[in-house]
Amino acid sequence: MLSFEVKPMLFVNGRFFTDKGFREAVYVEGGIIRTVGRSVDLLRLHPGAEIIDLEKKTVVPGFNDSHLHVLSYSRFLESVNLRDAKTKEEIIRRGREALGQNSLVMYGYDDGSFPRPLSRFDLDLISTEIPIVAYRSCGHVAAVNGRALALLPESEGIDIENGILKENALSLLEGLKPQESKLRLKERIKNALSRLNAYGITSVGTNDVKDDLETGLRILEAYRELEEEGELSARVSLQFAFTEKEKIAAFLEERRASPFFRLGPLKLFLDGSLGGETALLSEPYTSGNWGIQTLGEGLLEELLGFAEEKGLQVGAHAIGDAASALFLSALRKQKQNRLRHFLIHLQVLRPDLLACLRELQVPAALQPIFIAEDMEIAKRKLSKHLLKTSYCFKSISEATVSAFGSDAPYGEINPFRGLQAALTQENEQGEVLHPEERVTREEALKCYTENSAYLTFEESRKGRIAPGQYGDFVVLCKDYFSVPEKEISELKAELTVVGGRIVHRR
Ligand SMILES: [Zn+2]
Repeated sequence: MLSFEVKPMLFVNGRFFTDKGFREAVYVEGGIIRTVGRSVDLLRLHPGAEIIDLEKKTVVPGFNDSHLHVLSYSRFLESVNLRDAKTKEEIIRRGREALGQNSLVMYGYDDGSFPRPLSRFDLDLISTEIPIVAYRSCGHVAAVNGRALALLPESEGIDIENGILKENALSLLEGLKPQESKLRLKERIKNALSRLNAYGITSVGTNDVKDDLETGLRILEAYRELEEEGELSARVSLQFAFTEKEKIAAFLEERRASPFFRLGPLKLFLDGSLGGETALLSEPYTSGNWGIQTLGEGLLEELLGFAEEKGLQVGAHAIGDAASALFLSALRKQKQNRLRHFLIHLQVLRPDLLACLRELQVPAALQPIFIAEDMEIAKRKLSKHLLKTSYCFKSISEATVSAFGSDAPYGEINPFRGLQAALTQENEQGEVLHPEERVTREEALKCYTENSAYLTFEESRKGRIAPGQYGDFVVLCKDYFSVPEKEISELKAELTVVGGRIVHRR
């Protein structure tokens, strides 16, 4: 059981990173950090506690992934992984190897360097008998084979000839998946969270609900039951995406917050992705495209007004600068931002929008891992002018509160890789995008912990190692603050603690 009935724990002989410098020991009772100080003092103060010796290892606050997709990540873990498939032949080979089920789902291909995009003709070479869906690494484009295509209704956003779906049309693919029982959902959530714990993640903002109210309510119930059973091994804020007021209102009836689970924000999608050329830009891609606006201004303003009325926070997906501009101008009409409405991604930005973020105090949920993963795409697809203000995470952090995350499974989940990307602005090939946009180690860590807690109004309880904060922290195998920059991505979580309970041990 994970609930608060955990016995008092005393963690000694560590190097806890706190606002006041490093401290040796932390005492956690009832899920909350009660005392921070020297080992000898705390041992004397709390004689009855269970003692864990941290062997001088560095301890930082637990990571809080401000935006990812827990259930899609779980599906990604169970599907064919196409992340490092370099050719169509490789994709087809992996698909064939995995055949033998009733359907085949594959995740994470990147066809940016293929002569032609991945299409039904390629997937038909795997099978024409069973439906096959392959999601592009960005999650905003998918290719399906002929069999899957035949099962889909006709709709805008489907390129029937090539079997390629973009943006809103992707939700049609949900119809192909078998309805999942609540039990199965719970199992998947539990497994995914435990994988996250192994990376030192103790909190998440997860967007698992989109368009379908019935499924959404089942997912909500699955989380709630896990919470009640004390089986949530990370604290969850459930981001939900609806564009119909009735659905939002129905969902809001379920609103209440506990230390482990809270509902919201409402997620709105304003555009797509860079890789799919669906991110909305103010200057065209090198191909001449401008991207796709996935929500009209009128509806955006209406939904923002509705959210304000209901006291509901909004997190808006905006990758292109023109999408951010849409949101900021709609927000300006609200005159203030008490609900901390925020933008998610902000991969492409402009100086005037930076000023606007600062002025309206709009926080940003950023994924530094995309600097590493998307750099080539950005260089190839964006105008030189827009590239200059892309991935400008230091400038954004100076303008407003930036909260880091991974967008997993679309970005790699590992926060250590994200931190390294934020510190170096570098990809795996050692190419640096904007040296002047590198952030410091302390700043990057704060973005991955305290600032993410700010997004869910929990900064007084979460994100720091201090009395009164949740007992959420991660013991690292090596010292984050002194290892060479290039080794940060290889750091491991030795021990992950949530509410004083050890949820992962390496
Ligand atoms: Zn996302």
